[in-house]
Amino acid sequence: MPTTPLQGHAVVVGAGLAGLRGAEAMRAAGFDGPLTILGDEPYRPYDRPPLSKHVLTGHLPADVTQLPSSLGDGVAWRLGVAATGLDRDRRIVRLADGGTLSYDALLIASGTRARPWVHDDEGRLPGVFSIRGRDDAAALRTALAAGPRHVAVIGAGFIGCEVAAVCRDLGLPVSLIDPSPSPLSRVIGRTVGDPIGEVHRSRGVDLRMNCEADRLEASDGRFSGVLLKDGTRIAADIAVVALGAVRNTEWLEGSGLSADAGGVDCDEHGFVIDGRGRPDPFIAAAGDVARFPHPLYGGRRVALEHWGHAVAQAEHVGRLLAGEDRGLPYAAVPNFWSTQGDMVVKSVGLTEGADAVAIVHGDPKERRFVAVYGRAGRCIAAVAVDSARWLPAYSRLIETAAPFPPDAPALDRPRKSLDIRDPGFA
Ligand SMILES: Cc1cc2nc3c(=O)[nH]c(=O)nc-3n(C[C@H](O)[C@H](O)[C@H](O)COP(=O)(O)OP(=O)(O)OC[C@H]3O[C@@H](n4cnc5c(N)ncnc54)[C@H](O)[C@@H]3O)c2cc1C
Repeated sequence: MPTTPLQGHAVVVGAGLAGLRGAEAMRAAGFDGPLTILGDEPYRPYDRPPLSKHVLTGHLPADVTQLPSSLGDGVAWRLGVAATGLDRDRRIVRLADGGTLSYDALLIASGTRARPWVHDDEGRLPGVFSIRGRDDAAALRTALAAGPRHVAVIGAGFIGCEVAAVCRDLGLPVSLIDPSPSPLSRVIGRTVGDPIGEVHRSRGVDLRMNCEADRLEASDGRFSGVLLKDGTRIAADIAVVALGAVRNTEWLEGSGLSADAGGVDCDEHGFVIDGRGRPDPFIAAAGDVARFPHPLYGGRRVALEHWGHAVAQAEHVGRLLAGEDRGLPYAAVPNFWSTQGDMVVKSVGLTEGADAVAIVHGDPKERRFVAVYGRAGRCIAAVAVDSARWLPAYSRLIETAAPFPPDAPALDRPRKSLDIRDPGFA
């Protein structure tokens, strides 16, 4: 594996958060050679979190979300052009416009896209939206500002919950539909998801949990309502499909890399690996598209869709590609936030596989609390609802795999009286 400073041409595929921060890290590590950033969107990198919050409420126009950058001149931006293929033997990226880019170092940061509605024709109906990009958010903002009679949000994950909360902020009637028993319960379980659901209900969201959307119906060529699997019909003039994300890895088909809809596989440093597990020393990946073995979780491969992770991993692999820090594995503790109306949910660590949860701070009935998740007697994650200032203490416990139930200065009650429950994943 090369350990010398990078010489030659660096190429970044994906002009998003990870692509930008990775390119900046290469420059900060001393790489001053030619650098090309390729993006299929027509825009310089912009921030996505405001799209489902401030942009939808109308507090921020979609076109002012561009990310600040230290890159300056000396970068070739190729925007509005997708990468369509990768030839690792010849070290070239093939482009949708028929051209190619040769590379000496390549950063894969092609992110994810919104998972489309299951029936294509229904998903294309006027009145049906999803949010991944700036244009999606601008279009949905226009539709919400026009004062629809009813909005149906399909999927009660983080983005679905945020959109439902925005609708209430705007005074719009909204139904939030999901087969799970409570919002977010697939990720954080019912013990924490139920009180979050209560907050949405109290703000006027029509929660349709344990309900599966089956068809999007049309009238006069426009979306007119959601038919649920149980036969119930919810009349609405706007549908927001919030069914999670699909990773943009199709362009890697035929490259020999280990990649599928769940991400492109990396080794512990961030170099991508081929189908036989061998790292490619000229290519690294970062952000939503990267699936990597996390040392805090027994080396299990994870792909995270978190803003903070995209930044941290991109900085790590940017240095790696530039020839610095070759020996260090990437091991940042995952963290995430979500603003849902006036409620802020923040998490550290990964809840997956948790076998117990303890409310260590505050009270779910008061809608301000911190829950710590344990697996096999160790702390693996914490979620704070309107109590984020305590999270750093728990982040440290997760980083050190401290015993569960925790014994930390941030507990606001005696350890022996902690209420330990089943997380209730569903
Ligand atoms: C609406 C929304 C709200 C969010 N809110 C939060 C939040 O509150 N908190 C939080 O922690 N995280 C949040 N996230 C997640 C966070 O924004 C992502 O984790 C982050 O954007 C990931 O950055 P990325 O660079 O890996 O991917 P992306 O931001 O997806 O950037 C990848 C770029 O690559 C482009 N691309 C894809 N394929 C190709 C190709 N073949 N050729 C060229 N270019 C290509 C894409 O079009 C895109 O521009 C939110 C995401 C969304 C969509």
